[in-house]
Amino acid sequence: MPSPRIAIAGAGLGGLTCARVLQLHGFDDVTVFERESSPDARQQGGTIDLHAGSGQEAIRAAGLFDEWRALARFEGQEQRRVDPVTAELIEHEPPEGDFRPEIDRGQLRKLLLDSLAPGTVSWGVGIGSARPGEVTFLDGSTATFDLVIGADGAWSRVRRALSAASPQYTGVMFVETRHDDDEQLLGLTGQGTMVADDEGLMLWAQRNSGNHIRAYACMRAREDWRPSNAQLLELYADWHPSLRAFLTGEPIHRPLYALPVPHTWEHTPGVTLLGDAAHLMPPLGVGANLAMEDAADLALAIAEHGVREGVRTYESAMLPRAVDAQERTNAGLLDMVPERPIRV
Ligand SMILES: Cc1cc2nc3c(=O)[nH]c(=O)nc-3n(C[C@H](O)[C@H](O)[C@H](O)COP(=O)(O)OP(=O)(O)OC[C@H]3O[C@@H](n4cnc5c(N)ncnc54)[C@H](O)[C@@H]3O)c2cc1C
Repeated sequence: MPSPRIAIAGAGLGGLTCARVLQLHGFDDVTVFERESSPDARQQGGTIDLHAGSGQEAIRAAGLFDEWRALARFEGQEQRRVDPVTAELIEHEPPEGDFRPEIDRGQLRKLLLDSLAPGTVSWGVGIGSARPGEVTFLDGSTATFDLVIGADGAWSRVRRALSAASPQYTGVMFVETRHDDDEQLLGLTGQGTMVADDEGLMLWAQRNSGNHIRAYACMRAREDWRPSNAQLLELYADWHPSLRAFLTGEPIHRPLYALPVPHTWEHTPGVTLLGDAAHLMPPLGVGANLAMEDAADLALAIAEHGVREGVRTYESAMLPRAVDAQERTNAGLLDMVPERPIRV
């Protein structure tokens, strides 16, 4: 019997994990359609901690556990909390065990990409819309498949085939800055993550590989607020100068969006969703793990039960798991950045 034709929208961590696990189980008619023109079209930012039990199980299912371990930064599990006014260390978790080592997102994505059969990803092919078993590409052409998997992230086009929901602004803004080889900032950040907070203003910094740091200032703000460095520094005026130094460098504004909870849909043969397309939630360290876990679960369920029953089995486990994670991350965001005061 020929392999079912499977289309995956999006070559993010979720889409690539799904393609890899399907190929490992003998599915040889899997295509990933990615709207970006090449693997390097956009800098793949940040660092991802793969959790034991979710992301790590997915990378194991992808047959890439040893390769991931060789790249993972176990020392990146270090957590430091510092006082915003004095910059003194007030809590410290040394890096221990292997519950959630870090890896650069770019390294993880490359590991997955390199593991796929040549030609699996069609670069520069965006999906405009989908229906069960059919996609319409951005150039207007269409193609049919046994299954269309929407792994196309927060602003998924495939999602519209199953649900009318769209992401809503959470009221919380991240402003990201990047720093290279800065000894003072590296010292404050340590090997992993540093966090400081003061009445609804937060700052956290994460060490990536190669002495690179990504810092995120975080506050309640208007959705369209686009602060300059000077405005940020003014907002954090009471903070210690060494912490305010994280607020220099080009600011990248990231208003945070989330899908409503619960986000669910009627099982519909021929189309399903995974990752952010299914359950976009505040970025508190679980989204990529869940996307990869969804992806591995879906592929394994298809391998065991076939396309039709496999999707049903996957959705019946994934949807309640997603609701649980959405509720936890929404509560976590509220705890981190309470509704009052609104800073900007
Ligand atoms: C600042 C920040 C930090 C984060 N840190 C962490 C963390 O430490 N740990 C963690 O677990 N999660 C983290 N997350 C969340 C995590 O990034 C996401 O949950 C995860 O990337 C979701 O993976 P995905 O494969 O579902 O979607 P994505 O990674 O968004 O991939 C979607 C892909 O689909 C492509 N695409 C989009 N539209 C189309 C289209 N129409 N046609 C074709 N292709 C399309 C996109 O170009 C992209 O390649 C963070 C998020 C943010 C914003």
